[in-house]
Amino acid sequence: MPAPTEFIKYVDAHKDAFIARLGEAVAIPSVSGDPSHRQDVINMAGFIKRLLEPLGVKVELKDIGMEKQTDGSELPLPPVVFGVLGDNPNKKTILLYAHYDVQPALVTDGWNTDPFTLSPDNEGRLFGRGSTDDKGPLIAWINIIEAHVKLGLELPVNLRFCFEGMEESGSEGLDDLIIREKNGFFESCDCVCICDNYWMNDRTPCLTYGVRGMSYYRLVVSGPARDLHSGLFGNTVHEPMTDLILLMSKLVTPNGEILIPGLDKLVAPLTDTERKRYETLDFALTDIEDQVGAKIVLSDDKARVLMGRMRNPSLSLHGIEGAFYGPGAKTVIPAKVQGKFSIRLVPNMTPENVDPLVVKYLHDEFAKLKSKNTLKVENIHGGKPWMADPDHWNYRAAIKATEKVYKKKPDLTREGGSIPVTLTFADVLGLNVLLLPMGRGDDGAHSTNEKLDTYNYIEGTKLLGTYLHEIAVTN
Ligand SMILES: [Zn+2]
Repeated sequence: MPAPTEFIKYVDAHKDAFIARLGEAVAIPSVSGDPSHRQDVINMAGFIKRLLEPLGVKVELKDIGMEKQTDGSELPLPPVVFGVLGDNPNKKTILLYAHYDVQPALVTDGWNTDPFTLSPDNEGRLFGRGSTDDKGPLIAWINIIEAHVKLGLELPVNLRFCFEGMEESGSEGLDDLIIREKNGFFESCDCVCICDNYWMNDRTPCLTYGVRGMSYYRLVVSGPARDLHSGLFGNTVHEPMTDLILLMSKLVTPNGEILIPGLDKLVAPLTDTERKRYETLDFALTDIEDQVGAKIVLSDDKARVLMGRMRNPSLSLHGIEGAFYGPGAKTVIPAKVQGKFSIRLVPNMTPENVDPLVVKYLHDEFAKLKSKNTLKVENIHGGKPWMADPDHWNYRAAIKATEKVYKKKPDLTREGGSIPVTLTFADVLGLNVLLLPMGRGDDGAHSTNEKLDTYNYIEGTKLLGTYLHEIAVTN
C-alpha cells in the first residue's frame, strides 16, 4: 500500500511550518553532557509531550532516576518519553526510537551562526545543533502523525515512541528501563526503527543493518618506584616506556592487519553475495579522502576499504598516559606508562571471546622481552557488535519506501562505529531493528556547523511516513 498522495502533498505544503517546528526544537539547548543545561533537556521532553498529546498520542514521561556527578551530588536524569498511538491487534506495532538531547555547542567553537537558532542558508541547508542529530528525525515523526490526523487518514500500524534524553551521554538509565518494560510498554512491539545515523555520502539513501562493537584496552607497564633521570639510570634499569612501545608495535601493522593470533578465526566468513554488496555500494575512495582530508587510504580496492570499515575488525592505537609530552628535551625515564588501544568488533567477536586472546598474546610477547618490569592488561570498556537480517520485512518495507520517495535503491550498509541502544533493543526485546537514516554523510553531527538539508528533512519525512504504510503490507 503506497502512502496516500494526500500525505505526500501535505508534507510539501507544510514545509515552512515543519521547518519552523524544527527551529523551536533546536532553540531548546538540550545538552545532556552539561549539568547547567539539565533543566533544558527536561524542558525538551515537555515540549515533545505538548506536541504529541493533541495528536492523540498517550504520553508518559518515564522517570529513570538520578545521575551521580563527579563531585558526589546528584542530578535528575531527563525522562524517557514513552508514547502510545493505536492498539489494534490486527495491525503491526512499530517501535520508533529517537533522542532529544544534543552535543554541546558554543559559537566560539567555530560556528558561523548561533548553534541554537536554526539558520537556513540559500542552498536550503538548515544549520543548528541537533538539526540532523537527532531533532530533525524526531520532529519528522510528529509531522507525520499531524499530517494523518489533519487529513483524517488512518495510520495502518500501531506506534510506540521511545524518545530518550541521554543518548549523547551514554544513554544512562535506558538499558535498565528497556529490561524493566520488556513485558510492559514494549510487549506488543513487532519491530524497531531507529532514525539516528546518516547516509554514507551526500547522494544515495541507505539502510544500515549492522554496527561494530568494541573492546577498549589499557596496557600498564611499571618498573621503578619513581620517575628516573636518564643520565643516571639509562642503560642501567629496564625502562617501562621501551617495553610498552615494543608491545604496542606488535598489535597491528601499518596496513591495518591485526597481529593477535586467533582473532581472524572469530570473524564470520565472507560470502560472495556479501562481497558483491560492497563492490556495488555508491562509495568512492575519494569520499574517504575528502572525509579525512588526505590521500592516505589503505588500498585501491574499494571493497577492501569498505570491508575494513564495515565488516572487518580494526585495531587502533590511541595514546600513552604517563609519557613525557611537553615541549623541550626533558631526560626523564617515566616510572609507569599506560598504552591505550581498542579493537572494533564484528560478528562473531565479543569482548568475552576477544579479551583472553589479547591478554594472552600481550603477556606472551612481554615474556619474550625478558624485562623485569611488570605488565597489566585490562579491558576498560566493551560492547558487542550488532547485525540484523536485511531480508526481514522491516527492511523490505524500508527499501520499497526509499524507492518510492527517492526513486533510487538504497545502499545496504554497516556502520564502523557503535550505536549501543540498537543492540539492547535487538537483544532484550528480540526484535528486528532497522536503522533508517534521514541526514547525509556531511551533516557534521557532533561537529561545528551541524546541518540538515531541507531536501533530506522534507523527503525524509515522506520516507518515514511511506515506510509506515509499506510495512503494514510487507510480510
Ligand atoms: Zn544521535
